[in-house]
Amino acid sequence: MLPIEDFVQQTPAIVGLIRRLAEIESPSTDKAAVDRVGAVVAEELRRLGAAVAVDKQMTAGNNVVGRWGAGSGGILLLCHMDTVWEVGTLARRPVRVEDGRLYGPGVYDMKAGIALALTALRMLRERGGWPARPVTVLCTSDEETGSHGSRALIEQLARDATLVLVLEPATATGALKTARKGTGEIELVARGRSAHAGVDHALGRNAIEELAHHILAAQRLTDYAAGTTVSVGRVSGGTRTNVVPDAARAEADVRVAVPAEAERLARWAESLQPVLEGASVKATLTINRPPMVRDATMMATFGRAQEIGARLGLDLTEGSTGGASDANFVAALGVPVLDGLGPLGDGAHAEHEHLVIASLAERTALLAALLGEWP
Ligand SMILES: [Zn+2]
Repeated sequence: MLPIEDFVQQTPAIVGLIRRLAEIESPSTDKAAVDRVGAVVAEELRRLGAAVAVDKQMTAGNNVVGRWGAGSGGILLLCHMDTVWEVGTLARRPVRVEDGRLYGPGVYDMKAGIALALTALRMLRERGGWPARPVTVLCTSDEETGSHGSRALIEQLARDATLVLVLEPATATGALKTARKGTGEIELVARGRSAHAGVDHALGRNAIEELAHHILAAQRLTDYAAGTTVSVGRVSGGTRTNVVPDAARAEADVRVAVPAEAERLARWAESLQPVLEGASVKATLTINRPPMVRDATMMATFGRAQEIGARLGLDLTEGSTGGASDANFVAALGVPVLDGLGPLGDGAHAEHEHLVIASLAERTALLAALLGEWP
């Protein structure tokens, strides 16, 4: 097992690689931009001796797969190359070091994760300890927009793996993420009947009024104790004040900690009835990422990681988050997964996004140890 000290010497190289990746801006919605990062990642994987395959996408960026060895039962490293930052953010907020922190759009979420993965693999190749199992690195292009173009590939590669390591950032205290909420949406559509708001008020059926009842009901589905939140975040309806509106629409963000809560929300959506006579309402629940539950598999996987971490001199802790990642898809398949293996830091999706440079060596050492020592 390579000691952390070996990786301390690598810190400038890791920072250099993160900077190189972050200085190619790559919002999920800009295929050409994400593909520029993909080209660098593919080149780096090839330099490390991987067989590289590019999974071409029509609108999103291409997914990049690097593979060493053949067959199933290997370890899959999962990263995403896209960020939430539009091209041009870098001009305003260049990558910079301040007080031992590396700031910049996408450095923490998660260009650093890619750099950690590449560095851990390079060190294992150069210094020994390369895993006996096949190793696959998958760098996706659309995690921040729901992984619509990469989900099938993630699930296909995960089903073949014995362990999946997800390089999303750690929590601010460095905890791995052993539970994540599932994410989805409720769409509410109300229909009424238009009429002159002054002349024929009684003949109209106000779709906004109808919708208002269901907005309140949707909000009340929130159950903090169960880990469920529903937040209506967008509302539209009507044309002008002197017309009774015949259509209105609302969309809500949905988070659930357990599958049973998704089922409760689905039953609510199916049984929704209009309140106003002559109006109609329809609710559609879509769960994009299923919840990642801290179940027996998760506890056993984390326990093994803790043992390996302890041999390195690290005391690994675990935490949970309301945000989903591609680890949710893997966990739902029952495949062992460890998430939050990226660096310490803060401010994902925020202006103050940064990572703690001093954490890079130990996180890379941990990743190398997990790869080399996984039983
Ligand atoms: Zn991320």
